Amino acid sequence: MKQQLYECDVLDVVSETDVVRRFYIKYPDDVKLDFKAGQFAIVDMPIEGKYTHREYSIASPPAFDNIIELCIVLNPEGAGTRYLFDYIKPSSKLNLTLPIGKFTLPDSIDDDICFICTGTGIAPLRSMALYIINQNLPYKSMHMIFGNRYKGDILYHKEMQELHEQHDNFHFYPVLSRETPDTWHGPTGYVHTIYEEIFADKRPATFYICGWTAMLKEARQRLEAMGYDRKRIKFESYD
Ligand SMILES: Cc1cc2nc3c(=O)[nH]c(=O)nc-3n(C[C@H](O)[C@H](O)[C@H](O)COP(=O)(O)OP(=O)(O)OC[C@H]3O[C@@H](n4cnc5c(N)ncnc54)[C@H](O)[C@@H]3O)c2cc1C
Repeated sequence: MKQQLYECDVLDVVSETDVVRRFYIKYPDDVKLDFKAGQFAIVDMPIEGKYTHREYSIASPPAFDNIIELCIVLNPEGAGTRYLFDYIKPSSKLNLTLPIGKFTLPDSIDDDICFICTGTGIAPLRSMALYIINQNLPYKSMHMIFGNRYKGDILYHKEMQELHEQHDNFHFYPVLSRETPDTWHGPTGYVHTIYEEIFADKRPATFYICGWTAMLKEARQRLEAMGYDRKRIKFESYD
């Protein structure tokens, strides 16, 4: 790998669900960690004697404490996540690159922002939303559309709900594909009907999409069919 690696301290590891963990990682004090909301870091892991790298979006907003949060779902057959879940504990060391990537916000936010995500795809979008809110950046309206299967899969549920309640222009739409109206009072089905409804008037907006490939592909096609320019449809694929 060409990028320089930094030996970082794992401060904490917190279970978010049965299969998702939040990893709090601190870069060395002599590193100036200067990243943009939406970027990712590459984690380099010694697996069976061979260095193996995987990319992970930073779920936390930029801060001055050199600490980042990663939100990672276990792939039981996957070499990288198996290593992270089996061996990485608080006080472990982990080698990371500096944050990289172009899935970031524009310099000024002039129109509505629509975040569309599934699963851990919420990570970079949470970083962006918290950055905008914490920095008091001017924005018109933010919509976080989050698709999952079951209620228990909704990552950052309480936090997103609180943002929804506390900020008039932040709207959170958790949508579940495997719950029924008996078990879930919110929207059921997929993310697509939600943004198609919100933006039925085709008002100017920028869309940030992250998550499962099938969702990502379909969302791009549907948004283009609605008349949105490709330049306003930004995406990060995890495949
Ligand atoms: C920009 C980006 C951001 C991401 N952010 C997140 C996130 O925030 N949270 C999250 O849970 N996941 C994220 N992912 C997915 C993550 O990088 C891994 O693919 C995922 O964790 C599964 O890894 P695994 O090793 O467990 O599975 P595996 O199936 O072992 O590997 C997953 C991927 O790595 C490739 N791969 C396999 N072997 C090697 C090798 N030796 N060297 C290099 N690549 C190999 C495979 O082709 C496969 O695409 C992100 C991916 C990208 C590209």
